[in-house]
Amino acid sequence: MAECNDENGKRLNEITSYRIRVLLVDDQPIIAEAVRRSLVEEDIDFHYCQDPTNAVRMATELLPTIILQDLVMPEIDGLTMVRFFRANPVLLHVPIIVLSTKEEPEIKSKAFEFGANDYIVKLPDKMELVARIRYHSQAYINQKQRDEAFAALVKSQHELAEANAILQKLSSLDGLTGIPNRRRFDEVLKAEWQRSIRHSNSISLIMLDIDFFKFYNDTYGHQRGDDCLKQVAKSLDNSVQRETDVVARYGGEEFAVILPETGSEGAFQVAETMRANIERQNIAHKASKVSDHVTISVGVATWVPERCSQCDKLITLADQALYKAKEKGRNRVISSGMKFD
Ligand code: GH3
Ligand code: MG
Ligand code: MG
Repeated sequence: MAECNDENGKRLNEITSYRIRVLLVDDQPIIAEAVRRSLVEEDIDFHYCQDPTNAVRMATELLPTIILQDLVMPEIDGLTMVRFFRANPVLLHVPIIVLSTKEEPEIKSKAFEFGANDYIVKLPDKMELVARIRYHSQAYINQKQRDEAFAALVKSQHELAEANAILQKLSSLDGLTGIPNRRRFDEVLKAEWQRSIRHSNSISLIMLDIDFFKFYNDTYGHQRGDDCLKQVAKSLDNSVQRETDVVARYGGEEFAVILPETGSEGAFQVAETMRANIERQNIAHKASKVSDHVTISVGVATWVPERCSQCDKLITLADQALYKAKEKGRNRVISSGMKFD
């Protein structure tokens, strides 16, 4: 909970608190002085630009919350300046008040058309000037803060989605071996079973179990037992070729392998490769009764599932074949279709 609050606090801090910042563009320093004096007791920053050719550059650097633009200047007229400001993406939404010496409806209408937000005859009394500056600046600041809050929200949502994806992945992997866990196995088998029904394909399942693993733990200790499980999982995982094949830890020292679109011969071959690869690992197991290194017993089952059938059937068949492999002496592959006298 504390972490959650910290995180929220961090997000809120990402939203900037703004001070009202005025940029006046006017060729007459006397106007600048009058405006400056009107604002001197307010919590408002005041900046002045006398040369309109510098005004856009100055505004992009200063990022004012409002621009006061004189209408009549010797070099560029105020309306052209409004268009310049509006053409700049950084200044596009900064409020502009046009300052004119008189009420001229036609010019006033043009000012609004070009993107000005207000028009005042200079110089109004201090109270009106401050009120208008505050009103427009605050609206602009509020919008900026809303944009920042929205951006922070979108960022949070992205991070949450990423975290969920990682969590989802972690929740389907076995903590010890890093291969898919039983939960993931159940999901994949159900999905592949349904796919096999739709396409009338065969699907194979391998169930395998480490031989005399209890003795292994008893002899070498639980930690070495864990290392052995990791090595076995890695070897099994390296023994399958297709993207769609899934090697999972079924539980304890038992593993399961889903082989979609695979017939009994192909599945038997994969199972035999796995068994041989584990032997080739040459993991010492002096307490085993069938070898001096770690071996596995493997059961294989294949089915072309009919409509409405359940995948439990395949698990039972593979399990029975595994049981047979144990019974027949371990370190071997038994297919569920095999006949025994
Ligand atoms: P079998 O050849 O009949 O399969 O004999 P087994 O000893 O392998 O079978 P059993 O089911 O009697 O024992 C399985 C052992 O696997 C017992 C258990 O302590 C061990 N085991 C299960 N999970 C883990 C694990 O995560 N780490 C370790 N180190 N050992 C495990
Ligand atoms: Mg075992
Ligand atoms: Mg077992």
